[in-house]
Amino acid sequence: MPDIKTLSGRVVAAHGRHYRVALDATGQTRHCYTRGKKTGLAVGDRVLVLPEGQQEGVITQTLPRRNLFYRSDAQRSKLFAANIDQLLLILAAEPVFSDDLLGRALVAAGSAGIDARIVLNKADLPGTAAARQRLAIPEALGVPVLALSALDAAQVQRQLAPLLRNRCTLLLGQSGMGKSTLLNALAPEARAATQSHSEALGAGRHTTTDTRLYVLPGGGDLIDSPGFQAFGLQHLSPHDIEQGFPEFAPAIAQCRFYNCTHRHEPGCGVLAAVADGRIAAERHALYQRILAENEAASRY
Ligand code: GDP
Repeated sequence: MPDIKTLSGRVVAAHGRHYRVALDATGQTRHCYTRGKKTGLAVGDRVLVLPEGQQEGVITQTLPRRNLFYRSDAQRSKLFAANIDQLLLILAAEPVFSDDLLGRALVAAGSAGIDARIVLNKADLPGTAAARQRLAIPEALGVPVLALSALDAAQVQRQLAPLLRNRCTLLLGQSGMGKSTLLNALAPEARAATQSHSEALGAGRHTTTDTRLYVLPGGGDLIDSPGFQAFGLQHLSPHDIEQGFPEFAPAIAQCRFYNCTHRHEPGCGVLAAVADGRIAAERHALYQRILAENEAASRY
């Protein structure tokens, strides 16, 4: 039973160990922190808060999560968001996006049971057709790709906004892909935050180091997270990693050994499928990289 004095709410911003929680009853946001060693809260988490004064509160409990999207290396985990309905990956022809990071983000989503979609931004650039070809593998796996230009706010409203309505979406992208531009086109609240931030700093550029949830005017939430350069998946077991490669499933059913790791075993269905092109060699290579990385880390 929740303490009678606690109030329920949702984490709408996270910066280190400081959180902003929007209370369900009033919509008021409070500056909250956790006591002791309790960490590991993510934007989107539902929590109970013990109010302190008019503006602050202590987070006393995290309610069970529907899902959690995160990355992790040997040293630490980076929680992107909890309780999300979909992942929106933003890519562009320039700067060149990393197939490896894209693949890893899709594996993280797949293993957490989260739908993903891709926005190929900067569709006005001539390299867009070639960039789209590089997305043939995720597209074949059923990840929808929408090409648009974030600079064209009307197009964003027409083509992307309806896909975000009444859903909680995590926006993810390497820096330079146009994530801030897209966010500003979607959420007036974000535009206001960028402006006030720039004014306060006397500078033109807003750099996000924290994660924030924005309520969209048409209904739905958009969570903006900082850009990233690495995407470790150390929290995934070999079984979880397999789950992140759903196209392997029919081939795995053909493996001779029940504990086949799909790397070198005789009678491996996955290796046979890679050999005859049913599974993309790039995907199998990514699978092996993730597995090898996690094994190396577990030796320390
Ligand atoms: P972020 O680092 O992902 O937040 O990227 P920004 O939103 O700051 O955008 C990076 C650069 O790409 C900026 O110079 C933007 O003006 C530019 N940009 C964003 N969207 C588009 C687009 O659709 N077309 C073109 N040509 N440039 C864009």
